[in-house]
Amino acid sequence: MSEQSNADCIFCKIIAGEIPAAVIFEDDDVVAFCDAFPAEQGHALVVPKAHHPDVFALPEALVAKVNIAAQRLALAQRKALQPDGLLVTQFNGEAAGQTVFHYHVHCLPRWAGSDRATHGRAQANPDDLKAMAERIAAALD
Ligand code: 5GP
Ligand code: ZN
Repeated sequence: MSEQSNADCIFCKIIAGEIPAAVIFEDDDVVAFCDAFPAEQGHALVVPKAHHPDVFALPEALVAKVNIAAQRLALAQRKALQPDGLLVTQFNGEAAGQTVFHYHVHCLPRWAGSDRATHGRAQANPDDLKAMAERIAAALD
């Protein structure tokens, strides 16, 4: 269900400042932060600040805003990290691989030889994520 905020949602808690995240940039409508379980170095997410579970619930104006922000993030990741490629994707529903039911776009740098996993197994060190967020943010246009 679309709503301004959902008390049980981990991303709503990040947006409310109740739990920490390594934020790269934000505006009134969207926020970009590092994935806590990165599948690759620099794995980050773009999230609308309002709670919409999936692409089916997302208002058209936010489809545009989130994807414009994802392009901005991807350009900064490419500049900062110089990956061989960069995956921009999102999942809808458990069967598609969605695990957090607050719409988000993954921006995932890729290096040749990667196993192409979209989800990481280990939680990253928060200080490392903060340093990564600063490195990507420094490359923002
Ligand atoms: P999904 O499968 O729903 O597209 O991906 C959810 C993503 O959110 C996963 O890549 C997962 O690692 C990430 N994630 C889950 N919990 C947290 C958290 O508390 N903080 C951050 N920064 N990322 C999270
Ligand atoms: Zn939410």
